[in-house]
Amino acid sequence: MEDCIFCKIVKGEIPCEKIYEDDMVLSFKDINPGAPVHVLVIPKKHISSLNEVNEENSKVIAHIFVTAKEIVKKLGVDETGYRIVSNCGEDGGQTVPHIHFHILGGRSLQWPPG
Ligand code: AMP
Ligand code: ZN
Repeated sequence: MEDCIFCKIVKGEIPCEKIYEDDMVLSFKDINPGAPVHVLVIPKKHISSLNEVNEENSKVIAHIFVTAKEIVKKLGVDETGYRIVSNCGEDGGQTVPHIHFHILGGRSLQWPPG
C-alpha cells in the first residue's frame, strides 16, 4: 500500500514514537492524543479495517490483543483501566485506512463516546 501512512511508519519512512515492535505488530504513540495514555497498535501487514478481518489474518488480530496486555502494563494503566477501540468506516470515525487499535487510558473515560 504505497500511500498508506501507517505502512510508511512500518517501513520507517515516517517517524513514530515507538512503544513496542515485533515481527507482526508495531505500537506507537498517537500524534494527537485524546488521553494521557494514547497509543496505537497496528499489524505490520496492511489490513484496511475491521471489515477485512478473516480467518487467514485473524492470528495477527489476536496477537495485537496479547501485545496490548503487555503494553498497558508497560504504560502503567493495567490496574487503573483503559479502553481499546478500533474505529471502522465513516460513521465509526476511521481516518486512517490501515486497521489500528487505540489504547486509551490515564484518565476516567466517558461512555458512550461522542
Ligand atoms: P482513526 O481516526 O481511528 O482512524 O485513528 C487514526 C489515528 O491516527 C488518529 O488518532 C491520529 O491522531 C493518528 N495518527 C495519524 N497520523 C499519525 C502519525 N503520523 N503518527 C501517529 N499517529 C498518527
Ligand atoms: Zn497500510
